[in-house]
Amino acid sequence: MPAPRTYRTPGIVLSRFDLGEADRVLTILTPHEGKLRVIAKGVRRPGSRIGGTVEPFAEIQLLLARGRTFDVVTQAQVSEAWLRLRDHLGSTATAWYIGELAERAVEERAGAYPVYALLRRAFQLLDDGMSPDRVARWYEMELADALGVRPEVERCVECDRVPDELERFRWAPGLGGLLCERHPPPPAEVSDLSLGALKVLRAYRRLDIEAIAAFRLPVAVEAEVERLMRRFVRHVLDREARSLAFLDEIRG
Ligand SMILES: [Zn+2]
Repeated sequence: MPAPRTYRTPGIVLSRFDLGEADRVLTILTPHEGKLRVIAKGVRRPGSRIGGTVEPFAEIQLLLARGRTFDVVTQAQVSEAWLRLRDHLGSTATAWYIGELAERAVEERAGAYPVYALLRRAFQLLDDGMSPDRVARWYEMELADALGVRPEVERCVECDRVPDELERFRWAPGLGGLLCERHPPPPAEVSDLSLGALKVLRAYRRLDIEAIAAFRLPVAVEAEVERLMRRFVRHVLDREARSLAFLDEIRG
């Protein structure tokens, strides 16, 4: 039996580019079809029925028709708009960043349910007004977990020992996380890790985001955790996220 010509799926727009006079190619993350590249025809014309719908930072119910190169969006309806997320530049920039990580983490036409669920929850948290930094760190940690490369923050990755609080710690993304002082550090990709930052990393592993959102953290520790997690994610996804430059820029 031939595959049906049309199918329905929820999706979140991750990125898009204009094609021809009025069309747009969208990269969409879906829960069961993975990442899809689809075409939305005529959406840049005024009065397009789906033009205002197929935008980033929304969950959309899509009806797609199978096409030769790209499947075609034939109907689109917003089911979650997350409108408050767009009110703050910090939340919007973080939404771009985490969307980009999802785009790079998922292959085309590969099942992506955990990443979809994670992205959906992250957008919801940003929309609820949670600190974009906390949401980003939580998301990086959970994404690494979903990809099967959960960072080790409890024990040393080399000797499996729980280091003493008075020791010197290192962060070695290439080895998988925490490295204790007993081993010669590999030359690149290793940095010092403060006890304060280690405790925060452990909190991200152990606690739910709602608990972490209530923490008061010294700015320096929060910044250190951000550097450490970015390096871990860069190692996992193998290159720097483009949207990070924008995120850094708006913070001035
Ligand atoms: Zn060790």
